[in-house]
Amino acid sequence: MALFQIAEPGQAQAPHQRRLAVGIDLGTTNSLVASVMSGSAKVLVNEQDEASIPSVVHYQEDGTVLVGSAAQAKAVADPYNTIASAKRLMGKGADDLSDTLFADRYLFDTDSGSLPAFKTQAGNKTAVDVSSAILQSLKNTAELSLGGELVGAVITVPAYFDDAQRQATKDAATVAGLHVLRLLNEPTAAALAYGLDAKEDACVAIFDLGGGTFDISLLKMQRGLFEVMATAGDTALGGDDFDHALAATLAEQAGITDLSDASQQRNLLNIARGIKEQLSDQTSCGFDIPLADGGSYKGTIDRDQFNALIEPLFKRSLKSCRQALRDANIEKSDVDAVVMVGGSTRVPLVRDRVSEFFGRTVLTDINPDEVVAVGAALQADVLAGNKPDSELLLLDVIPLSLGLETMGGLAEKVIPRNTTIPIARAQEFTTYKDGQTALALHVVQGERELVSDCRSLARFELRDIPPRVAGAVRIQVIFQVDADGLLTVSAIEKESGVVASVDVKPSYGLSDSEIEQMLTASMEHASDDMLARALQEQKVEADRVVEAINSALASDGDEHLDSDERTVIDQAIGDLQTARAGDSTDAIKSAIAKVEKVSNAYVERRMNATVRKMMAGKQLADVESDTSDT
Ligand code: ADP
Ligand code: MG
Repeated sequence: MALFQIAEPGQAQAPHQRRLAVGIDLGTTNSLVASVMSGSAKVLVNEQDEASIPSVVHYQEDGTVLVGSAAQAKAVADPYNTIASAKRLMGKGADDLSDTLFADRYLFDTDSGSLPAFKTQAGNKTAVDVSSAILQSLKNTAELSLGGELVGAVITVPAYFDDAQRQATKDAATVAGLHVLRLLNEPTAAALAYGLDAKEDACVAIFDLGGGTFDISLLKMQRGLFEVMATAGDTALGGDDFDHALAATLAEQAGITDLSDASQQRNLLNIARGIKEQLSDQTSCGFDIPLADGGSYKGTIDRDQFNALIEPLFKRSLKSCRQALRDANIEKSDVDAVVMVGGSTRVPLVRDRVSEFFGRTVLTDINPDEVVAVGAALQADVLAGNKPDSELLLLDVIPLSLGLETMGGLAEKVIPRNTTIPIARAQEFTTYKDGQTALALHVVQGERELVSDCRSLARFELRDIPPRVAGAVRIQVIFQVDADGLLTVSAIEKESGVVASVDVKPSYGLSDSEIEQMLTASMEHASDDMLARALQEQKVEADRVVEAINSALASDGDEHLDSDERTVIDQAIGDLQTARAGDSTDAIKSAIAKVEKVSNAYVERRMNATVRKMMAGKQLADVESDTSDT
């Protein structure tokens, strides 16, 4: 998705009116909150003096909810009631439980509606519930530290999050009583933290290696446009994998063979994680592993040994980097800055190898675990109105056109692609049949002319439309896309005021490469599409003509036509229906002309009869009004 900057007028605030706003990095492994204070963004610490908290929630039997380190401390003893990595399930359905991370670690309830829920002793909890508990805790930290109520937060999400995942994130914020100023892509936040948006034409790589996921994003800043050129990554690569590799080695060294116990396994992983983190600062590390017989195993491991263990894992990230460069169609040398994001980029091997790969020193000045929250805080400060007018505001554009299906399976674009959001657009539609009282609306996304070539987003119906002749009813359809790219479509019938609306939360979004594909297809098929559209339009016209003439014939055909005349008209209608079934636009066009020609006299007679009736009526009315005047 592309981003671009505009100045938001009238948002300046006097300094004493400073509004409290925060940026939140809601991570898979760790979460943190930051805010701009005295001109610079700082991460806020909680009462335990922690800048970042584990994204872990523990549910107790009495309903008490523990968040962060307190929850993490329960993970070994009570794994089922201690939920970690819930972000992976945000906006996902029951099918996505096949993710091994979840399948063999938690108990699930998939019966209650479509959202899968973790079974805990305090009841079923969805990923939204878990995220909401984390957000609530960060909100408390911020309000305590800033000394007031927050006006809102900018929450970051991975660039590849689809509408359902973004909506789930917003829902979690709502449940936590947190106003979302906007959702911001994590790589964009990191680029903002380094002020890279100020560099015209700059091409930036954001290398984000977290706890369980790896993302590489290539952004380009162009004429005020911050565009995501490509994203790639590995949803099963992160610091956790380093922990597993190291834990296996530790177990081997300590002679532990039985790894079936979940608590024991968790314990070993915790030790491994501690060693790994120390090895980022020192070249060797001693350790102590408790054994089943009550004793313990003491050993040391050095950085080179650790590097050898993680080398094959790390290499997978470079594969994704090559993929992203290919997708963006650029060379390594075109990249002007490489930003390190995520706790795992503290590992020296990672920094060295990524620098080597891109041929330039990677940016690490801003703490890689904090850089996303810092960027989000800068953005929140602007959105809350704490910056003078001259400050710029990042806005997204919609990547693909949004529209409605019209008669004949044609797609009518309501909001064209690349329109800046938020946006609202209205368009009028009408009924197709006489007396039609309901309208089926089909919301589609894409650049192609035929609905069958576009992506279906939602269907809904507008009912209780007052019955009128075809074309007389005016229905206004409004498309609204909010700042987070979420679409609401509503339809209102002007005369009666009946309304219907739908929020579009498609369960699966499109990746950048799919969007690219749809755009390429629309260009490749442009001329075919125009021909297809012309044919469909002619077919719709044919249906309209047949419908109109048949309904006229049914009402007064016998009155105005003798049987020979009727035969000629019926023959022409039959020919038109045959032509309509074929795929020649011209044949349908001439068949329509034929029907119109042979029914000319009939239409004229009907018209005269109607005029006669109207005149008679008018005279009667005039007489009545004359009498009432006297
Ligand atoms: P996420 O974005 O998934 O929430 P983070 O960016 O917070 O994750 O990264 C968490 C990962 O970073 C964990 O695997 C953690 O062990 C690792 N990590 C944190 N500090 C260090 C360090 N000093 N050296 C190596 N790895 C670290
Ligand atoms: Mg992260």
